[in-house]
Amino acid sequence: MEKKELLYEGKAKKVYRTDDPDLYIVDYKDDATAFDGLKKGSISGKGVVNNRMSNLMCQMLQKAGVPTHFVEELSDRETLVKRVKIVPLEVIVRNVAAGSFSKRFGVEEGTVLKCPTLEFCLKDDDLHDPMINGYHILALDLATQNELDVISAYTFQINKIMKEFFLSIGIELVDFKLEFGKLDDGTIILADEISPDTCRLWDSKTHEKLDKDRFRRDLGGVEEAYLEVMKRIGLN
Ligand code: 5GP
Repeated sequence: MEKKELLYEGKAKKVYRTDDPDLYIVDYKDDATAFDGLKKGSISGKGVVNNRMSNLMCQMLQKAGVPTHFVEELSDRETLVKRVKIVPLEVIVRNVAAGSFSKRFGVEEGTVLKCPTLEFCLKDDDLHDPMINGYHILALDLATQNELDVISAYTFQINKIMKEFFLSIGIELVDFKLEFGKLDDGTIILADEISPDTCRLWDSKTHEKLDKDRFRRDLGGVEEAYLEVMKRIGLN
């Protein structure tokens, strides 16, 4: 399968059309942004880590019965995926308080939550991805109640699978962001990446951050952290 015209260039990925109208090629870049694009940089090798890790996670989830957009890894940075209409929501799960949750609720980072939480944000950089509730989503016709129920059920299932997997390789899954899309027949599937760009991953013992917070917070050792995650998940 070959890349045709460039359809979309985002902050971390390019999406191309292919000969098959139902399949796109995603090409992962090393570019990194944070704070709605205010902070810009590059993380050498990030595209490779994010592509390969996302594909591994998608395959693991597919085996467990969660449908995803993954079709085939074409190269270190390129993957063939199903064309979807993205549901314009960021679906965020948290197991441990960190980031905006800690700030919003005044809870110390690292506090283990009594149960996992789920929140939706509207995918809109200009508005800084504001948090949005189920009523808002229905009122703005961004998704139906049934779609929200399916997305929520998949999300908690994904959290359970990923939490156990990361624990087995000495990583605490603090929180992460998912995006879902719709196939032409209305089926909801997991789309977009699952990577150190979209997850907070802490070393279980030392609590060292092994994710994009190293870039966001200027902690140094950014490339090394991405490579460490790749090594631990068994990709070299
Ligand atoms: P927070 O709301 O604390 O900033 O982020 C919660 C989790 O969702 C973190 O794992 C973070 O990486 C992810 N996340 C939230 N919004 C975005 C976003 O716009 N882009 C990316 N890559 N990750 C996000």
